[in-house]
Amino acid sequence: MAARSGSEFLGRLAAARVHVEIQGETLTGGVADHPAFRNVVRSYAELYDMQHDPAYRDILTYPSPATGEPVATAFLTPRTPEDLAQRRQASKLWADRSLGMLGRTGDYLNSALMALASAQDWFGQADAQYGENIRRYYEKVREEDLLCTHTLIPPQANRAVSGSQQAGGALMAHIVREDDNGIVIRGARMLATIGPFADELLVFPSTVLRNTPEDKQYSFACAVPNDATGLRYLAREPLDYGRPRHDHPLGSRFEESDAVVIFDDVHVPYERCFVLGDPELCNGFYTHTSAVVHMTHQVVTRTTAKTEYILGLLSLLTQAIGIEQFPHVQADVAEVITTLETLRALLRAAEADAAPNEFGVLTPAWAPLNTARNLYPRLYQRFPEILRKLGASGLMATPTEADVTGPAAADIETYLQSATLGGAERVRLFRLVWDTCISAFSGRQALYEYYFFGDPVRMAGPYVASYDREPYQAAVRAFGSTRRLPAFERQRVLRSIAQHITSRKEEFARTLAQEAGKPLKAARTEVERAIFTFNVAAEETTRIPGEYLSLDWQQFTSGRWGIVRRFPLGPIAGITPFNFPLNLVAHKVAPAIASGSSTALITFSATLTASSG
Ligand SMILES: Cc1cc2nc3c(=O)[nH]c(=O)nc-3n(C[C@H](O)[C@H](O)[C@H](O)COP(=O)(O)OP(=O)(O)OC[C@H]3O[C@@H](n4cnc5c(N)ncnc54)[C@H](O)[C@@H]3O)c2cc1C
Repeated sequence: MAARSGSEFLGRLAAARVHVEIQGETLTGGVADHPAFRNVVRSYAELYDMQHDPAYRDILTYPSPATGEPVATAFLTPRTPEDLAQRRQASKLWADRSLGMLGRTGDYLNSALMALASAQDWFGQADAQYGENIRRYYEKVREEDLLCTHTLIPPQANRAVSGSQQAGGALMAHIVREDDNGIVIRGARMLATIGPFADELLVFPSTVLRNTPEDKQYSFACAVPNDATGLRYLAREPLDYGRPRHDHPLGSRFEESDAVVIFDDVHVPYERCFVLGDPELCNGFYTHTSAVVHMTHQVVTRTTAKTEYILGLLSLLTQAIGIEQFPHVQADVAEVITTLETLRALLRAAEADAAPNEFGVLTPAWAPLNTARNLYPRLYQRFPEILRKLGASGLMATPTEADVTGPAAADIETYLQSATLGGAERVRLFRLVWDTCISAFSGRQALYEYYFFGDPVRMAGPYVASYDREPYQAAVRAFGSTRRLPAFERQRVLRSIAQHITSRKEEFARTLAQEAGKPLKAARTEVERAIFTFNVAAEETTRIPGEYLSLDWQQFTSGRWGIVRRFPLGPIAGITPFNFPLNLVAHKVAPAIASGSSTALITFSATLTASSG
């Protein structure tokens, strides 16, 4: 089977016997038509239909390496920048369709599976079979276009101890025994969004919580069909109240459902196991495979779409009631624009600096994506706050569709009109704002964004640990000595750099030509200019110290002289672009040396050799 259509997705769901407990009711199937799920399930079906729409299918699908049939782009293993761009465009198309509100669309975990399967050898460290298993499972999900969700963290019983120590170790899902064919899991995991209507449940390690050697029983990664015997979902109260789309525009479409996951001796065959009893592999699961990078690439694409929606909504709101011109309103709109442009820039930087990982997968740069995923949980919280503040009482003047079309229609048209909209249109807009910032659906969205990748407080630790801070520390340490260098020493350093480049001119030119793709003639010119830059800076060292000013501008300073002296103030941060990787490095480094400052230089990665040579 290739990329599924909406009806194929719904057809499979209709046949599934998923066990869900919801509001006192036990379901063992029939999820697709249950009032708690039927609307969101149809929103998901629309996404699958897009895969067959001529307007989108070239972006949303690519030919399966196994069959040549179209399969979803999120499975595409990126080897070129164009592949990465297609992956982003596909995620953006889907995210735009839900205004970024759906967080578990298939592309999220399909991206993880793609990266995990590419790292087959890493899984093979424990046993070659695990490597085979993850590759085969990825191919199965790709070819059948299955919808996966995941469950990662232990129940929230007592966070003062690790999950494996809660209630004597009985609560958290763990392996209770193995037989000839596989493992048996008992216990619970805290949550799985879309659990009730996914096809597959990935029981994976946490992205943030670390396992210790004592957690062996709890340290595994496997995949379970959603209607496996013994698997139960305990779903929360739905926030889709079955109201018309006019009244609850978001909740009636995008209410994904979250559910506690209970394993009542669930048997998982070995071919569905990828890591078993190995805390260390669980801790490296996302980072060593680059899965976290590709997941975050998808997530930042989605949150960009969501921020675009917020900006559009906010702009319509401020125009509707004529408050655009007030400075504090503009400051709030500016805050949303800043968030949007920050996300876009980080996404772009991540793709521009992408490099193949050890498995040959073109992997976006991690630092910008990691920055985005650490920023957004906090930045998003401001959006509902801003909408509430600016919508004010208008958010309470929100009659229902029955009112808009009923006896109150004339009053609504007259008294609820706005500067730009008639009464009925204004009500429609304000109901959308209400569902984005006040409704229970919006509250769940804010919570979701905050905890999307785990607890942001505890995410800071890995963020700091994975960031290479040594160059900046070195710059600060070096400043203590560079600022004391006398002018003749600084001049000697600069002359020696110029001479060094001169002696290896041709080597520099050829490296530049190869890495930056510029004609050799242009590369040679750039090398000459860099030598010139260092020589000019060497001359400047003797001019920098300052000047004498005659101060006889007024009677009381007559006969006095002023001395201007210049001192380096601190390390300088230099960022160099890709187009002149040698000379524009010289433009930062040479004046810094001339003035006695140390430099932390951020180079464009594709020309790193040339720029640091
Ligand atoms: C809407 C929603 C959907 C979700 N969907 C999924 C899903 O599909 N799959 C999935 O696996 N998970 C899902 N999650 C769970 C998500 O991964 C967790 O919310 C997140 O990891 C934080 O864990 P927790 O909620 O148990 O909070 P807790 O760990 O219980 O933390 C509660 C509070 O205590 C503090 N705290 C607790 N322990 C420590 C500590 N050791 N050090 C410092 N502070 C501490 C935290 O900072 C926090 O403020 C979802 C969560 C939400 C809200």
